[in-house]
Amino acid sequence: MLSTMQDIPLTIARIMQHGTTVHGTSEVVTWTGAAPRRAGYAEVGRRAAQLAHALRELGVHGDERVATLMWNNQEHLECYLAVPSMGAVLHTLNLRLPAGQLAWIANQAEDRVVVVDGTLVPLLAAVLPELKTVEHVVVTGPADTAPLEQPGKRIHRYEELLAGRPTGFDWPQDLDERSGAALCYTSGTTGDPKGVLYSHRSTYLHSLQICTAEGFGLGVTSRVLPVVPMFHVNAWGLPYAAMLSGASLVMPDRFLQPEHLARMIATERPTNAAAIPTIWTGLLHHLDEHPADLSSLREVVVGGSACPLPLMKAFQERYGTRILQAWGMTETSPLGSVAREPAGVEGEAAWAYRATQGRLPATVQVRLVGPDDTVVPNDGGTVGEIEVRGPWITGSYYGSDHRADPSGGGRFHDGWLRTGDIGSVSPDGYLRLTDRAKDVIKSGGEWISSVELENHLLGHPAVEDAAVIAVPDPKWGERPLALVVLRPDPATAPGEEHRLRALKDFLARHVARWQVPEHWAAVPAIPKTSTGKSDKKALRASHADAAVP
Ligand code: ADP
Repeated sequence: MLSTMQDIPLTIARIMQHGTTVHGTSEVVTWTGAAPRRAGYAEVGRRAAQLAHALRELGVHGDERVATLMWNNQEHLECYLAVPSMGAVLHTLNLRLPAGQLAWIANQAEDRVVVVDGTLVPLLAAVLPELKTVEHVVVTGPADTAPLEQPGKRIHRYEELLAGRPTGFDWPQDLDERSGAALCYTSGTTGDPKGVLYSHRSTYLHSLQICTAEGFGLGVTSRVLPVVPMFHVNAWGLPYAAMLSGASLVMPDRFLQPEHLARMIATERPTNAAAIPTIWTGLLHHLDEHPADLSSLREVVVGGSACPLPLMKAFQERYGTRILQAWGMTETSPLGSVAREPAGVEGEAAWAYRATQGRLPATVQVRLVGPDDTVVPNDGGTVGEIEVRGPWITGSYYGSDHRADPSGGGRFHDGWLRTGDIGSVSPDGYLRLTDRAKDVIKSGGEWISSVELENHLLGHPAVEDAAVIAVPDPKWGERPLALVVLRPDPATAPGEEHRLRALKDFLARHVARWQVPEHWAAVPAIPKTSTGKSDKKALRASHADAAVP
């Protein structure tokens, strides 16, 4: 029998209506390098309505795609609200992708309009001739729009487009909650970028989860600094979660350098923040030289790649800031797991939990699958590929590829998403990642976790950055090569080779002897992908023959 409950669709329009009325005085602050710009959520709601009117006039109807090429700022938030709420699909373009991939993605998505930050006009102008379906470009902020003047493209200024339009909009109330709201592509480190189309329902449920105490714990007294970009996986869902909970947003715009972040934190006093580990490592080093007041910052969510334990401990001990490791991916909206220790666990035992990738919320199920595709136990020791399913986990990829290949290139397995991550799950639900399937080092039938070796190296004071990759080995199949960015040493007397040997001895004290790399190289930098991960594909290509015994 069906329930007696009303069947109200869970939509982004509802999140917006709630945030811009009930929480109308919560604010979005946009960092400018000088005086920050501020707007209350009520004003943001009025401007989102004006934007929706403007987009309708430009001919955006139904589920057409409106792309953004923008930093984290107020205008981007307005796009986040207006575009899905009017029934269209918000397509966030990753401004760090190579031009060819950007064009490929925009064409596959058939973007009709692109909203672009004035500072990114040169980037867009270079690819615009390739963007076949784009008819309109809307530019925010002061900028020279001349490079965008190209045949078949109409250029608009954001503020002029909004000016004088009604501040209310008849948001469609009958949208199917399962319809597409926002489209995000994976960064393509494992092949062609693949599109994930979040629904209104998945976004709503994901936002609720973020707000919970077991999630990111947001409420009206929170001020959230999403350093994670709105152009990739919806800034981990924080803009929508903030609207839902009434948390204010401190938007860094393009000012992601440690000195700006330190000033932002000291003056705008965020209580929560989120970013990948390298951002916090950079900030920590900056603070060593230039102390700043971080006392407002209660909790920081770190994910995207493994968060080194020494980084967590340093923030806790020096600033009283709790770093929480979280795991997720484009395909999971992205919030999967958050590493909070169980109640009553303290001291080193608590750190052991916090060093894991954490626990999944009830709505997301996890299982481990062995090499022969059979399910293996969640006993904390057995290692397998992590598979997940749930209402905000994608069940396929967007576009023609997935229609031709419903398995999404093998990423879907009996209704579960194969994450490509290898690890274990404890009986009480803690996920521990040992590697990505493609990065694990297969040495003589045993697996060596590159992540574990990197974590140990990153904990050494002489190491600025490190990546461990597999190199071919005639005897073992593969062996690890450690690439290390050494911290400048004023007394460089010992020399690089000596310092690398010392690191090898250090590793030997932490991992099994057969796991210690025999190949080492000091490098000036570890290349990063568009989402800030070590670009191991590039490293493997450039170091295929370069192993230094
Ligand atoms: P991409 O588009 O490059 O796949 P994603 O942001 O979707 O970018 O990356 C997801 C991947 O990032 C995960 O599959 C996992 O390998 C890695 N990752 C995310 N969070 C963590 C974490 N806390 N620890 C280790 N790896 C992580």
